[in-house]
Amino acid sequence: MTHGRAPTVPLPHIDADLHSHSCVSDGTLTPAEVVRRAHAGGVRLFALTDHDHLGGLAEARAEAQRLGMAFVGGVEVSVSWGDETVHVVGLRIDPTAQALVDGLAATRSGRQERARAMGEALARAGIEGAFEGALRHVSNPAMVGRTHFARYLVEQGVCGDVREVFRRYLVEGKPGFVPHRWATLGDAVGWIVDAGGVAVLAHPARYRLDAAALDALVDEFRAFGGAGIEVVCASHTRDDQRRFAAIASRLGMRASRGSDFHGPGENRVEFGQLPALPEGLVPVWHDWPEAARAGASGLASAGCA
Ligand code: AMP
Ligand code: MN
Ligand code: MN
Ligand code: MN
Repeated sequence: MTHGRAPTVPLPHIDADLHSHSCVSDGTLTPAEVVRRAHAGGVRLFALTDHDHLGGLAEARAEAQRLGMAFVGGVEVSVSWGDETVHVVGLRIDPTAQALVDGLAATRSGRQERARAMGEALARAGIEGAFEGALRHVSNPAMVGRTHFARYLVEQGVCGDVREVFRRYLVEGKPGFVPHRWATLGDAVGWIVDAGGVAVLAHPARYRLDAAALDALVDEFRAFGGAGIEVVCASHTRDDQRRFAAIASRLGMRASRGSDFHGPGENRVEFGQLPALPEGLVPVWHDWPEAARAGASGLASAGCA
């Protein structure tokens, strides 16, 4: 593997999607279904990145192999940074790395209790049965989270869609919000790096941080060994893309791209429809053998057309 300087000849554009969820966390499709949908959408380099869980990776990898799609194992770790929850995506991790496996188990351990407290909080707001209802939307009870409550409230007709539930009930200051302590930033990045992976700061435009606080977050993240930042993702506007492209360039961070897919009908952007990374950035996959293989096959098929 090469390290350090970016290649002077850029790789041909490949449709890389390095952020997605299955029903192992809060997506609605099985890992194999997510992989098939990504492939059908034109994705050629793919990562499954379930929240705080590696349980879908073996199935996803097998399905990607069957389809001939380049695959890297991933995870999205929930982190508490001060009062804010931030997400760190780990890419190309070894799913057997013990510190990562143990750290994720500890990170998800409080979800059931938190969910019970959310159920009680929603009951006080007049919505009964939300804990049991959310569990009906969960494949993996250890991973019960806000998205499962949101689906229950939509099912009950309380709100029209998942986003409205978040806005009215599940974000800080709203009746169903229960604060929670996740992993520390240093631990999350450390687990990923020690597992041989690249740590990527997920959807940075989503955090309620002013410019100075965001700079501090990025500085800390890099000091712990974080190397990448999501520039193109479903929750970023064109302005956000430009802003984080500039930060990536200035700091020499690698740029990532991912749809944050959760399920058909719940996504702002379908597989295959994300904009390309802005020119001049070093993609997080620039020295990955999986990307070289995906790029080479893309060139071959273009050449034969
Ligand atoms: P949790 O880990 O249980 O706090 O849930 C976090 C998840 O909720 C995220 O990964 C998203 O899938 C989802 N989420 C967070 N904010 C929103 C929002 N405003 N609209 C829709 N989904 C959201
Ligand atoms: Mn999610
Ligand atoms: Mn996230
Ligand atoms: Mn995500």
